[in-house]
Amino acid sequence: MSIQATNKLYYHNTYWRECNATVLEMKYNQQGEIWVALDQTVMYPTGGGQPHDSGHINHIEVIDVEEEDGVIWHRLAESLPEGTKHVTVEIDWERRFDHMQQHAGQHILSAAFEELYQAETIGFHLGKETCTIDLVLPEFTDEMARKTEYFTNELILENREINARFVTEEDLDKYPLRKKPSGYEQIRLVIIPELDYNPCGGTHPQRTGEVGPLLLIGYEKYKGGTRVHFAVGKRVIRLLNEKHALLKSLSKMTSAPEEKLQDSIQKLQDDRKRLEQEVTEKNNQILEIFANQMIEEVNAHPQQVAFSRIFEGRSIAELQKIARLVIEKCPQAICTLVGGDHDKQQIVCARGEQVSLEMNKLLAVILQRIGGKGGGSAQLAQGGASSEHSLAQINDMIVVELQTLLKED
Ligand SMILES: [Zn+2]
Repeated sequence: MSIQATNKLYYHNTYWRECNATVLEMKYNQQGEIWVALDQTVMYPTGGGQPHDSGHINHIEVIDVEEEDGVIWHRLAESLPEGTKHVTVEIDWERRFDHMQQHAGQHILSAAFEELYQAETIGFHLGKETCTIDLVLPEFTDEMARKTEYFTNELILENREINARFVTEEDLDKYPLRKKPSGYEQIRLVIIPELDYNPCGGTHPQRTGEVGPLLLIGYEKYKGGTRVHFAVGKRVIRLLNEKHALLKSLSKMTSAPEEKLQDSIQKLQDDRKRLEQEVTEKNNQILEIFANQMIEEVNAHPQQVAFSRIFEGRSIAELQKIARLVIEKCPQAICTLVGGDHDKQQIVCARGEQVSLEMNKLLAVILQRIGGKGGGSAQLAQGGASSEHSLAQINDMIVVELQTLLKED
């Protein structure tokens, strides 16, 4: 048994915020959601790129509104008392009027793109924060963006009428439509005279002035065309407030007035770069000191071949640097270094050119025992592990292994 189509009051008057209605049917779907159909409603269902209204039916929250075969179904947060016949429907006007501003703003923006660049709009998304349209427009520039934004706001400020009417397919020839829809008995046109004739099922204000300011936020290449991000009406005020608060906070953080922010941030970046260079230089000096201490030790022990050290907190790259400096000055020595920390241990093994023991083989033995990974050449090998062993334990392992290998050698 099918039920009668709902009388869509939002098409009689887009400003009606509430109405009385009779319950036609209440049903639970498979997910346990409660949906109610009414004989008439002011609530707009999801469609034509415009999100559904929200609000209340007899003070019960409406969380979704959908249309199915001409019947408008309202999803309720909880069910109406058994046998409820007559209800009052109230919409969240803030949300609805916002949708009206975004949607009408989109029509005007799309008309501006047609006027200025003969660019057709092929997609519209009304998002929670901002909206987008997709255009058949391969090239778009900042200058074009500013021009379009200016032109759109001029059209809005002219406070032109926005009319909506139902027409039959035959009537369509009377209107300068860019593209004629087909296959509908009744077609609803939203008309801004002498500017835009658009088949559309959405809710619009009566005049363009109510749309408020339109801000073109950005654009990007999208599927061979252009996607434009924008915001309309009260959203523009909100966005500007947010940006203003951000600028104020940045200004406070940098102790610079807003107009000097760019200079101030540039200076911070330059300072950081300079400091990074200084830190790198100082660190290299420290690594050289470590290497020199080891070289002294090697020179003080002419009978000894292998020299091991722990440098806690040092990275593999730092250990490599120390090891290279040592074996360069001490071709008769082997230099093994352990760094990193409790969670991740790093090992570097290096030999001078007068030594024949292969460092990659030595490292492989150690890594196998501690479950690490690494590699390298006979001259220089490096690896790391996340083992349970302490840096000292790993260092001891290397020392013992080296003693064994050197005896065999
Ligand atoms: Zn529309």
